[in-house]
Amino acid sequence: MKLTTIAVLGGGPGGLYAARLLKLSHPDAEVTVYEQGEADKTFGFGVGLASRTQRNLREADEASLTAIVDAAHPHEMSMRVGDDAVRLAHGELLGIGRATLLTVLQRFAQEAGVVMRFGERRSAADLDADLIVAADGISSATRSEHEAEFGPSVVFGDGLYLWAGTDYQLPAAVFTPVTTEYGTFVAHAYPYAEDRSTFLIETDEETWKRAGFDVTTEQTPNTENDEVSLTFLEEAFRESLDGHHLIGNRTKWTRFRTVRCANWHAGNIVLLGDSAHTAHYSIGSGTKLAMEDAIALDRALLAADDLESALTAYEEERRPAVHYLQTIAERSMAWWDDFPERTSIPVAQLLIAYVTRAGKVSLERFAATAPQVVPAGLAAYAGVTVDEVPGPAEVTEWVLAQPLSARSLPTRTAPAELRDAPGTVEISTQVRPWSAEATALVEGLSAAETYWLVGADDREAVLDRLDLAERIRRSTPAVVVAEVPAALRDVAAAALVSERVDLVAIGS
Ligand SMILES: Cc1cc2nc3c(=O)[nH]c(=O)nc-3n(C[C@H](O)[C@H](O)[C@H](O)COP(=O)(O)OP(=O)(O)OC[C@H]3O[C@@H](n4cnc5c(N)ncnc54)[C@H](O)[C@@H]3O)c2cc1C
Repeated sequence: MKLTTIAVLGGGPGGLYAARLLKLSHPDAEVTVYEQGEADKTFGFGVGLASRTQRNLREADEASLTAIVDAAHPHEMSMRVGDDAVRLAHGELLGIGRATLLTVLQRFAQEAGVVMRFGERRSAADLDADLIVAADGISSATRSEHEAEFGPSVVFGDGLYLWAGTDYQLPAAVFTPVTTEYGTFVAHAYPYAEDRSTFLIETDEETWKRAGFDVTTEQTPNTENDEVSLTFLEEAFRESLDGHHLIGNRTKWTRFRTVRCANWHAGNIVLLGDSAHTAHYSIGSGTKLAMEDAIALDRALLAADDLESALTAYEEERRPAVHYLQTIAERSMAWWDDFPERTSIPVAQLLIAYVTRAGKVSLERFAATAPQVVPAGLAAYAGVTVDEVPGPAEVTEWVLAQPLSARSLPTRTAPAELRDAPGTVEISTQVRPWSAEATALVEGLSAAETYWLVGADDREAVLDRLDLAERIRRSTPAVVVAEVPAALRDVAAAALVSERVDLVAIGS
């Protein structure tokens, strides 16, 4: 379809990439990006780009992707708990400074003929254009100004995070907890330049309050750093920082906001990227989602005859992918919120729990790609030597076949008679595992010897059941059994290794 004027609100990765693609597809149109900030000033440190993002971006626009990859920093992944550490070679992880990414995207937008208007904050109502792309980020004013049309919901996470950096290149991405007198803080850190790494630190609300950071957060203006927290954390993470400093950039404690919207378009305004949806940072996909939205919007506008059909098609195309990643992100956020309770698990086993936490990566697939970690994790789970662990294709059955010594049971598949045993209580529920309802259920449990969890057989319901099983397992000394359909045996095996459940009852 023909467009004469396109206004893009917001010069983040979503807005800049959309502007370039749209200008290339509509060379006669006037495409303008309005960005409230200056060209070379931005918030944040590095962001991670996963491999799939790169394939999608390459198909859409090879030139900009090549420049992004050239400016990015490949790295490996590691996990460290105390002195116990594992490192995972992972050829496809990339980190890139947010400022660097934006510089590359600004250049490509300008080369395509996009007009950049920096230092100009605008609202959709100020703009007169055939199409207004509202890529104005997580706090989108466009979304709020048109609340009735977009139907947004914003859910705040339980935990708090602080996005900082450090002035040296970490040898690999590292996930590591530190326990202090106030409680546990967990760092997610990765290198993104020769002299910079992202150092994101999270904690739970009680620890945050005990450390007095509720007060320092309150006292820190949005334009400044919470220096008290940064000084404390620099000391707490001294070993991981190898004597380097933590640096802030408007850094203060925040709760992650998960944004969802009932509609992503209204009239000639379309939401794109974080303005429409967010996914917890622990799956490193926000930039990917914003840029993939841009690709879908561009394609929908080329294919349709009128704006309404194009924007409807864009939304229909993107909703399933966004929903899928938001579901994974929700599980990932909950996993990290509870992370301090898992630090007694041997670290190779913990890394398996991390990679399989949201049901996206199967145990077999991880075993095939990480021979330096998975056998050690499985050996720790079974209490055997690494030589006794089979190859990737056999790991699922092998995990299920291990004994539960504490109950003198020969395998991890629950015997049918256990279900009717006098000490067994059946729990049949569909509650979301992190809901207040689930908390009430866990807190109200009587002292049974065994809890046997049943419910629906679809994948999401089974993953929910296993997450609830883990909560019950952590709060009671009982043996916890979850029913899992035969088609999800691999999910059952991953849950056993991750210590989310003691036994599984495999259905038909
Ligand atoms: C702590 C943290 C860590 C993250 N780590 C990762 C990661 O590792 N990998 C990853 O892929 N993603 C990560 N993300 C997410 C990622 O930063 C965002 O998803 C991504 O930047 C979204 O792009 P966007 O273009 O939609 O919005 P933004 O990048 O937020 O850009 C919006 C732009 O709009 C401008 N703006 C807003 N309102 C107006 C207005 N009215 N007029 C003019 N300009 C306006 C803003 O100044 C801003 O430049 C992380 C996010 C957080 C919070």
